[in-house]
Amino acid sequence: SDGPEKKMSLTVKILIGMVAGVILGVIFNVIDSPFINGQIAGGLFAMIGTMFVNALKMLVVPLVFFSLIGGVTGIGDIRVLGRVGGKSFGLYIMTTGIAIGIAIVLALLIGPGKGFDMAGVAASDIAGKDAPSVWSVFAAIVPSNPVAAFASGEMLQIIFYTIILGVAVLMLGTQSAPFVAACDYMNEVMMKIVSIVMSFAPIGVFCLIAKTFTEQGIELFIPVAAYVVTLVLALFLHLFVTLMVMLKLFTGLNPFTFMAKIRPAQIFAFSTASSNATIPVTLRSVTERMGVDNSVASFCIPFGATINMDGTAIMQGVATVFLANVYGIDLGVMGYLTVIAMAVLASIGTAGVPGVGLVMLTMVLGQVGLPIEGIALILGVDRLMDMIRTAVNITGDAVVTTIVAKGEGKVDMAIFDDPDAGVLGS
Ligand code: ASP
Repeated sequence: SDGPEKKMSLTVKILIGMVAGVILGVIFNVIDSPFINGQIAGGLFAMIGTMFVNALKMLVVPLVFFSLIGGVTGIGDIRVLGRVGGKSFGLYIMTTGIAIGIAIVLALLIGPGKGFDMAGVAASDIAGKDAPSVWSVFAAIVPSNPVAAFASGEMLQIIFYTIILGVAVLMLGTQSAPFVAACDYMNEVMMKIVSIVMSFAPIGVFCLIAKTFTEQGIELFIPVAAYVVTLVLALFLHLFVTLMVMLKLFTGLNPFTFMAKIRPAQIFAFSTASSNATIPVTLRSVTERMGVDNSVASFCIPFGATINMDGTAIMQGVATVFLANVYGIDLGVMGYLTVIAMAVLASIGTAGVPGVGLVMLTMVLGQVGLPIEGIALILGVDRLMDMIRTAVNITGDAVVTTIVAKGEGKVDMAIFDDPDAGVLGS
């Protein structure tokens, strides 16, 4: 190993890359030169950024598969498996429900969008998506073709199939030992590739952020400032209060240590706006930095990246109240309860990829009878909001994973308390 000084510096380098990206992006945005916009930000930076995100994504499916086989066989008991699954599912639904509840209450108190002048809003051609039914959401968990599920990265189907496979492997007993050993070995190999990819993170993060900020002008924010402020406030409230209080209450673990250790994953989530692409980093952060056993993390993290979206739910809540105010429509208690139910359901049924929150919003708006065109108002700021809410999403995943693991006695406190444990780049 490289010694703590050298290891520390990768996290610092990523942070520097991020800050430099924001600064350069804002400068580029002000200069607004067609060459810079097209060739530098939209060309070179976009290319490197895409390569970096693709490199993360290429790890997701094999990493989830091998670590989950290791996880299922590591738990070794189908009842424990059921308990971990049940608890994490319950907690994921609960945190999402709390998140959107807080968001709606806060937005009703602040009242963004009141007195908004609709005259300046251009009609858009955004097509609404229909709400999925509970039945279809659950039916879709079982893949009819596992190869197709793996090829297209259908996370819930992959998890389902891999768990069944792991259980069958368990049932075959000693006969399975070579396969289990091979999967454990492949998991180690994948973790090594995560390290390799992460060593490019400073430049990857820099390019992604610089590109985004070059495209996002500050003037986009002014007309919807009240929406942005309310949303960011609700996201921070959930991140720093709700989630940290839950962590402290359920596990007794130190929230500050937790926050320090989840930070790299938050930076990746912020840069990529994708919980799915961040899975390798989130998984590494909770196992190697916090000491959560792979048997719990290998299931809970990818599961959470798919079904748990606290930040996205918060956005649905704030956006609905905002648009209800803009259009002068009173949704009433039933309307808001519908919004909560819809947002929770939609977060189960949709994957953690960039911009999915906006698609979910069309379902929610359609359900409560608000005009879908309203989305045009918040479209311009959505990329930046997506980045922030994705960081909240993966933090929620990590909190629930830690709570479940602690309940099973599967958190190695020596690792959790060691500030140098599993620092990036090792
Ligand atoms: N980008 C978010 C995620 O991956 C989903 C969303 O809110 O659009 O978690």
